[in-house]
Amino acid sequence: MKDRSRSQALWERSKRSLAGGVSSNVRASAQMSPFFERAEGSRLFDVDGNTYLDYVLGQGPMILGHTPEPVIQSVQQAIQRGQLYAGQHELEILLSEKLQQLIPCADLVRYSNSGSEIVQAAIRLARAYTGREKIVKFEGHYHGWFDNVLISVHPPLNLAGPRDCPQPVAASAGQATSVLDEVIVLPWNDLEAFGSVVSEHSEEIAAVIMEPVMGNTSCILPQSGYLEGVRELCSQHGIVLIFDEIITGFRLGLGSAQGYLGITPDLATFGKAMANGFPVSCLAGKRDLMELIASQQVNHAGTYNSNVMAMAAAFATLSELERNNGEAYNRLFTLGEQLMNRLDALAHKLGISILVQGVGPMFHLAFTRQEAVLDYRSYLECDQELYRQFTEMLLEEGVRTLARGMWYLSTAHTLEDIEFTLRAVEATWVRLLETNRLPAQK
Ligand code: PMP
Repeated sequence: MKDRSRSQALWERSKRSLAGGVSSNVRASAQMSPFFERAEGSRLFDVDGNTYLDYVLGQGPMILGHTPEPVIQSVQQAIQRGQLYAGQHELEILLSEKLQQLIPCADLVRYSNSGSEIVQAAIRLARAYTGREKIVKFEGHYHGWFDNVLISVHPPLNLAGPRDCPQPVAASAGQATSVLDEVIVLPWNDLEAFGSVVSEHSEEIAAVIMEPVMGNTSCILPQSGYLEGVRELCSQHGIVLIFDEIITGFRLGLGSAQGYLGITPDLATFGKAMANGFPVSCLAGKRDLMELIASQQVNHAGTYNSNVMAMAAAFATLSELERNNGEAYNRLFTLGEQLMNRLDALAHKLGISILVQGVGPMFHLAFTRQEAVLDYRSYLECDQELYRQFTEMLLEEGVRTLARGMWYLSTAHTLEDIEFTLRAVEATWVRLLETNRLPAQK
């Protein structure tokens, strides 16, 4: 076992002043996690002197790895001249012009600080534009922690209703019950289910919001024809199509998921990889919608919106990603796909049934005999508790991954990192095999 005595002492101390010892429920865990004191490239360093190869990457944002020189330098230089003007500055325009060039749906943009916030702007705008109230969201998709969207993210099956027409389930104590009436919950990747709700409720539906690649439950790509079908139905019935690209934005390419998949939504939200760990989010949308914000019919505000640090970080991050025609993405896809294939091959060699699903820069690993996970309900059939134990054992080997199965790659990861990872995974799987709990191949 790695020595984590200093982390342990800090963990005990943190619980005495910080609710649950953490600042986000997403980080809450019965297990102590290491306390970090430094991060660089693909590595994290804890207070006990342990090093970890990091596939968590701040839950996705650190696409250039930790502490990338060009981003840090840009931010340092920019904030020497001021941090927050409550007024306009040129970096705002430079970034907005870049986003217009890169994002297919970005006729106009607006900034906030977090994903949760900017999703609210998208929903309000869709309601104002259509004069309708209801929002369609999908089981397993996450759109932030606010009342009207923290619904049916990972609902317990005994409350979730039938697969084809799920019950909206609130995820937190204290959520207003009225929000459940505003939302229609559907299984994702099921065009028939979407079509039948649209034919019944089209006059009430303001928007459909989705992660275009489902990154908060497994890593699920849209089935062939699904997004095309949803896009067409939305256009036919005047429903605003919102892509929540907080994870996929600038992770799947400079054009994000909409560019990668070739489907343009009416509105899209961005955050995470857009600014490599600095808090900034963005709403990008078609002109006729965004004009409602421009004309001030729709309110969107925020003291910290487009602060100097955020704009400098986003501009520098995107400039790095754009270098040599976006060559960084070739690296991310190649390296990620290599890791996915080699994990698969390793499992095969050891006779274990795993499922590696996704694309190079973001993928999901699960212990299951299923050939594919297509929605939330099939994700539930994966052995999540065993996977969580696997990630704890992997941490002991110096590799940090998310307990929910997602792996993120950065441009700082190398071929040597992949080799190191495979050795660590093999050591862990060999030990788990001795306990007879890993699913054997069919
Ligand atoms: N939408 C998606 C798709 C997300 O993954 C997240 C965060 N993981 C959010 C919205 C909320 O973003 P934030 O945590 O920055 O509020």
